[in-house]
Amino acid sequence: MVNFTEEQLQQIKAAIHKRYLELQEEIRSELVNAGEEFDVSRADDINNILADVDTALIDKQINEMRELEMSEKYLMELEFGDCVDCGGEIGFERLIANPSAQRCIECQRKFEKFYSAGNAPSL
Ligand SMILES: [Zn+2]
Repeated sequence: MVNFTEEQLQQIKAAIHKRYLELQEEIRSELVNAGEEFDVSRADDINNILADVDTALIDKQINEMRELEMSEKYLMELEFGDCVDCGGEIGFERLIANPSAQRCIECQRKFEKFYSAGNAPSL
């Protein structure tokens, strides 16, 4: 466990909360924008709305929200701040900038390289 000070923990917690609200707002406005073109009271239109919305983007946002929830849950636990891959420190600055980070920068690069190399399941 990285030894964060109480103050650092509070800052990370605030960053998690802020990002969470941002994501909620982004998803809401995307759904509202898409919904404007349709009569939301008609059940048939729901599928049209969902077809119109960028579901890949929303999936990504919802996924990030889940990660933030996890981070918040782990915040007070021993593993918080440790990279899930190498067990090294993720780093305070990185957590503030990216509160859902699960990996140190090094491991994140490897992770993204792996997935962008076509190993990710295509939608
Ligand atoms: Zn790592």
